[in-house]
Amino acid sequence: MFAKVIIDQDAKALDRVFEYVIADGQDIAVGMRVFVPFGSRILQGFVVDISDSCEFDKDKLKSIISPVEDFSAIKPEMIELKKYMSKKNHLKLASVLRLFIPAEMRDGRVKELFERVYEFVPENADLVGKRGAKQLAAIDYLKEKGRATSKELAQFGQSAIKALVDKGVLRIEKRQVYRKPFALQENCKRVELNDSQKHAVETMRQNKTYLLHGVTGSGKTEVYMHAIERVLLEGKNAIMLVPEISLTPQIMSNFKSRFGDDVALLHSGLSAGERFDEWKRLFSGQARIAIGARSAIFAPLDNVGIIIIDEEHEQSYISESNPRFDTHDVAEFRARYNGCPLVLGSATPSIESYEKAKNGVYQLVELPVRANGRELPAIQIIDMMNEIRTGNSGMFSNQLLADLANVVNNKKQAMIFINRRGYSSFMRCRDCGYIAKCVDCDVSLVYHRQDNRLKCHYCGKQFKVLSRCPQCGSENIKHGAVGTEQVAAKLAEYFPDVKILRMDNDTTSTKNAHQKILSEFKNSLPGILVGTQMIAKGHDFENVVLVGIVDADQSLYHADYRSSERTFQLITQVSGRAGRSVAEGKVVLQSYSPRHYVYKFAANYDYKGFFRKEENIRQVAQFPPFTRIIRVLFADHDEEYVRGLLKTCYYKIEELKSVYGDEIIYLDAMKSPIKRIQDKYRYQIMMRLKLEHADEIEEKVFEIVDKESKNAVFFEINPQNLS
Ligand code: ADP
Ligand code: ZN
Ligand code: ZN
Repeated sequence: MFAKVIIDQDAKALDRVFEYVIADGQDIAVGMRVFVPFGSRILQGFVVDISDSCEFDKDKLKSIISPVEDFSAIKPEMIELKKYMSKKNHLKLASVLRLFIPAEMRDGRVKELFERVYEFVPENADLVGKRGAKQLAAIDYLKEKGRATSKELAQFGQSAIKALVDKGVLRIEKRQVYRKPFALQENCKRVELNDSQKHAVETMRQNKTYLLHGVTGSGKTEVYMHAIERVLLEGKNAIMLVPEISLTPQIMSNFKSRFGDDVALLHSGLSAGERFDEWKRLFSGQARIAIGARSAIFAPLDNVGIIIIDEEHEQSYISESNPRFDTHDVAEFRARYNGCPLVLGSATPSIESYEKAKNGVYQLVELPVRANGRELPAIQIIDMMNEIRTGNSGMFSNQLLADLANVVNNKKQAMIFINRRGYSSFMRCRDCGYIAKCVDCDVSLVYHRQDNRLKCHYCGKQFKVLSRCPQCGSENIKHGAVGTEQVAAKLAEYFPDVKILRMDNDTTSTKNAHQKILSEFKNSLPGILVGTQMIAKGHDFENVVLVGIVDADQSLYHADYRSSERTFQLITQVSGRAGRSVAEGKVVLQSYSPRHYVYKFAANYDYKGFFRKEENIRQVAQFPPFTRIIRVLFADHDEEYVRGLLKTCYYKIEELKSVYGDEIIYLDAMKSPIKRIQDKYRYQIMMRLKLEHADEIEEKVFEIVDKESKNAVFFEINPQNLS
């Protein structure tokens, strides 16, 4: 027999299948990882096919050395998925296959954990003499229990146990133990579904994609749980994706208390051992619900009965580092392969998804009201220019300060949202305009007061704070726009006796930090939680009655066709944190351009109105979803090399214009907005295509770029982030 093997290496030259002989008696199956001879080395590979004939000269083929594990880590569905993804996203075969198994498995870092179990062998009981009191006691103990762990038997002393084993009265067995990343928390109350929730659960059962549009607090999680419950009863399994780690503690405790050990958690915050064990529990069918961030879409479950993507509009569902892929595509593939429903849930669906629902590609299901019958919190827009005119140049409006004081007096809670971490966004010399920048990246540094350092948010490098300008010597240094750290510090000045917590990338880098901050906040009355978009999603705190959005415009003026959409989503999501329980909620939204249409629609929770406006703008301006954007990003330490590559590719791509004419709406080559990251120079080709022949053109562009380049290229479709 012959095996087709994909070598687990990055080199472009190895990005194809290689054939190997399966020796007689060798137990090799499709999907197994194997050791193979390659040149003078021994490498690992994935068996993707087995057949009784070969394409290459049979006598020149080498044999597989041995399997890496004794099971097929890659299941048949995933072999098909690999074909689909590598073609659709122009990815290397090995890099796709790697997504399907825990990284720890590849470098052999994780060991499965086993414990010793001692089993009583009644036939040999007579072999114990009359004198070993401890041995006799141990036997009595085991007669009752049948088997015990070494910990349980420790009371009888090691030598007694050893003697019993030597005599054959005890038999040692190995039993696999799984590391559990999550302890069961509070019990989750069972609620009766309301009519729209029932309707949603009843509807979403066919082999289709559903867009579940439910306002914040409409009880989507409860709908997911009921749908999953049904699927389990049918004997099938479920995958549920949530956008970020910040969500996991709450979602997990809900799911764990409902489904117990059927749930496995997959995300990057786990230790290597935990992640591997959770994967293994899913793989072996011991766990039947996979929950996690993006990568959980690759959960090794068979017979999937439902796939749910919560907060489907979230950017984090698109992988921006290699291998680049969109979780929606993968989910779509797996749902069709398994013949099951795919549910996309959100209070603010992406324009792309809602457009598809409008056109009948997805089926729209709505949850129009909050599950507890409460109104959505009123959003008050504050004109910050007006504050300045009336003499308030601080970061908080008088209204926000008054409302905060109220919250504090009533021993309630507030969340303050600011989408920038650190203390201030940059340091600039007022006299000569010098801005402190990272030496490796073309970005300005962010001041972090706690460590008194300037930090680069792109590569993590840290620098000394400027006390005088290195260019002109002036001591007149100005701070840029405020970040979470400064907001928290200022609030502490206004409210010295109130617990003020901060949640952003800086405060949550250690394991379980999210959970600690959130549970501390839960117990702080009064309390204020300051944070980036991490606080915008999913949290359900009953005492939060006020949400403050310090600088709503921040996401609005990015040179990006999605900036309005993103701003609308953020406002809706953060606002949704207020007034979720008994007390009425309120939102104070501060803006320097309060008349922008985004704010009007957001303040009225008018998603449909916003969608129509945005749809119209995109259609007229020819942006996605009505066109397709391709960005080819070239990045390398050698600037001459990338520039050369850019030029060569650009001229070849330009020739496509003679064939496709005005189907190519836009084509240009340029420096990327951030010209250098981690000392790699960045150049790009941007193009915008009409949809009709977009697939065809995309394929040709890829061929051109692939032929010219080595490893310096990233290929992105409708990129989320244009930096
Ligand atoms: P969403 O994810 O849509 O924002 P959640 O799923 O977090 O909303 O639900 C909001 C709150 O409403 C939760 O506290 C949940 O327990 C509660 N809830 C959900 N469904 C019902 C229901 N049918 N009756 C009463 N409360 C419900
Ligand atoms: Zn200066
Ligand atoms: Zn940097």
